[in-house]
Amino acid sequence: MGRITLQGVRKVFDDTTVIHGADLEIEDGKFIVFVGPSGCGKTTLLRLIAGLEDLSDGKILIDGRDVTRLPPAGRGLSMVFQSYALYPHMTVRNNIAFGLKMARLPKDEIARRVAKAAEILNLTDYLERRPGQLSGGQRQRVAIGRAIVREPKGFLFDEPLSNLDAALRAQMRLEVTRLQKQLKTTAIYVTHDQVEAMTMADQIVVLQAGRIEQVGSPLELYERPANVFVAGFIGSPRMNLLTGAVAERHDASTLGIRPEHVRVRHGSVEADGPGEAWIGTVVQAEHLGSDTFLYVDVPGMGAVNARCTGELRAAPGDKVTLLPDAARLHRFDANQQAIR
Ligand code: ATP
Repeated sequence: MGRITLQGVRKVFDDTTVIHGADLEIEDGKFIVFVGPSGCGKTTLLRLIAGLEDLSDGKILIDGRDVTRLPPAGRGLSMVFQSYALYPHMTVRNNIAFGLKMARLPKDEIARRVAKAAEILNLTDYLERRPGQLSGGQRQRVAIGRAIVREPKGFLFDEPLSNLDAALRAQMRLEVTRLQKQLKTTAIYVTHDQVEAMTMADQIVVLQAGRIEQVGSPLELYERPANVFVAGFIGSPRMNLLTGAVAERHDASTLGIRPEHVRVRHGSVEADGPGEAWIGTVVQAEHLGSDTFLYVDVPGMGAVNARCTGELRAAPGDKVTLLPDAARLHRFDANQQAIR
């Protein structure tokens, strides 16, 4: 089991409050991603759960048991860091087994667990190598292997893929997700990359300035962001957030529309329904083949981004009409909260 509960968790460093009373319920076996901009407190929250930092206030429970004052080793959680922290002079086998040897597990039990982890991670053929003879992805897998063999109640990942190049990152993203589904062990994963969050998480926890802004599945956050911050943070390219007359027409302070929910027509055309039609000029066009991203200047409204599937022939200076999907508009009040 690995149900993790945070109750009013607060952390103050010197005079600065870095985590402002976080409440969170993480179900057993789920993959949770903490995401948010640099400095929002993701790593601090993870380290509080791990026991590497003391709480200033609040409680942490694992499977209903209060672990707030327990040292890291007493919590049954395994941490995987961005820097793999492997022992360079030891073989892969000994790196993976190290923690178990320290805990004085019987030799045959250690051998069984290492063999199983190596098989799951495709490391069986590399067990006698040293870390220096491995690729970055293989090293990361050794670090994960070391966490797996401890058979923890939960894995804590702190940006484990950020040292890898883009292709390897994408591959490891799939591997880590598949592995977690296979092991069914609760995982908390810290990243500032919202694509990683969207593709890996069962539940995403969005943090800003030490506060939890929203918790939900990737699609819940995409479809129903609770506030302007989450609306702008989740989704790439980011949601258009419009203020002024266009928002006021919809009784809102801010009106949001995702670039992929804006249709583009050449020239100046009428809306084909009661919805909005915004006429503007293309400022920039990015042709990716799979998609076309347009940056359009709409007089009186400002810049609006549109994303069209496939190739759309458009160049800077072209006049276009933008037709936002009325069903996909997001309205936010003066306090930046979603109006439902
Ligand atoms: P990043 O994505 O850049 O790693 P993060 O969201 O993980 O950021 P944290 O590392 O948790 O952010 O830091 C949150 C805030 O706490 C930051 O403002 C940071 O400067 C501050 N902080 C972190 N550790 C300490 C410390 N030991 N002493 C004082 N302040 C700290």
